[in-house]
Amino acid sequence: MAVPVAQQRKLTQRSGNICAFPDCGLLLTAQGTPEDPVVVLGEMAHIVAESPNGPRGDSPLTPEERNRYENLILLCNQHHQLIDSEGALAKYTVERLHAMKEAHEQRIERRLGGRSNVPSELPPIVNDTVYSNVLPVTQMPRYIYGAPCSAGRESEVRPAATSAGVMTPFILREGRLWAFQDLRDSGNPFADAVACTETERFSTKEWWTDPDKLGWYVALLNRSLNKLTGRLGLRLDHDHHRYYFEPEAAGVERSVPYRPLNANRATRSVVWQPKKRATGEARNYWLHRAVSLRFFLIGDNQWCLSVRPELRVTSDGFESMQAKYIGRQVTRKKSRLFNHDLLGEVQFWRDFLGRSTPRIFFPFGTDRQNLIVSTSLSSGQVRWPGIPAEHDMPFKNVEYVDDLFTWAEAEGLSDDDEDEEEALR
Ligand SMILES: [Zn+2]
Ligand SMILES: [Zn+2]
Repeated sequence: MAVPVAQQRKLTQRSGNICAFPDCGLLLTAQGTPEDPVVVLGEMAHIVAESPNGPRGDSPLTPEERNRYENLILLCNQHHQLIDSEGALAKYTVERLHAMKEAHEQRIERRLGGRSNVPSELPPIVNDTVYSNVLPVTQMPRYIYGAPCSAGRESEVRPAATSAGVMTPFILREGRLWAFQDLRDSGNPFADAVACTETERFSTKEWWTDPDKLGWYVALLNRSLNKLTGRLGLRLDHDHHRYYFEPEAAGVERSVPYRPLNANRATRSVVWQPKKRATGEARNYWLHRAVSLRFFLIGDNQWCLSVRPELRVTSDGFESMQAKYIGRQVTRKKSRLFNHDLLGEVQFWRDFLGRSTPRIFFPFGTDRQNLIVSTSLSSGQVRWPGIPAEHDMPFKNVEYVDDLFTWAEAEGLSDDDEDEEEALR
């Protein structure tokens, strides 16, 4: 069971979308670029845990009451972890958390309501840390090579097998084959298909400043993503340009090991058939963890990889379901994903894609040609005046670019929960 959207909204509004922990002051959303949203995560922490075995979970509250505004407190990830940590439970009691929440919401109300009577007073400048779903590229290949190619279609080109896991993404454009391998070298993986002696070499940076070539470059990066995810056993959903897990055998749910934020090792369900909560009866659809990955250029030469968690819905573990139905199911899941679980989802994907290492590695043959993405969740310090006080409600001034919450609203969804699916696991 998840927190109904109306309850989420109420909590977000009343807390000014700021962590309620005393003196934290972290603003829990941030503006994205038009290119890509930067998602900053507020967490709807339970005062009485959702489950009776969870922190402060021993309570007469019903499961529904546990997911209502009255039992939730908006916190940053760090303070959510703190109040739920084993050693701190005696300190952060139900009463104490209620008091903390109430004091915070009163502060927010005063700050907004009192503003008109306090002209020209500037709000204090605060330091905030923002986290995003964007991973920085720490190295891009230095060169790109192109040579005349007789093949008319990419499917006609079969690169030779390479040693040590070297990836050989390529594109065909304007009669040439373009790749990260040095095509002048007669031993290159495309030697059979290209005229090696007529190879041209360009600096990749040169390509990034030319809009057409930039498009080609991104196409080559997408081919590289296909190679990486293919090796990890993911499937490509062409229509949505996202990658997803498939069952290893028909009718069998699947989970994979990964390293969550707060534990050494765990497993995550990646393909499952949801069950009805009341009866345990299986639903007539399957859910698949999926991810949308996109390279994009910010600033001068800084590339990033955005990692956007998604869900794919199938009727039987394989057959994609009709668009209309998918819209409804996945949108509901997405709206729930937004605050509480998105950071965990991003963590799952960066750990999986990076094979539990600090980087996602695309080997293209030589050190200077390799592509490396850091799996450090990028976070940045910003100094700014907290909430812009001249606006009625601070959260309105913070545009969530295509965030999952407003997206769900745009789809005209109600937030009734009577048809409750099992929450993500
Ligand atoms: Zn919680
Ligand atoms: Zn906090």
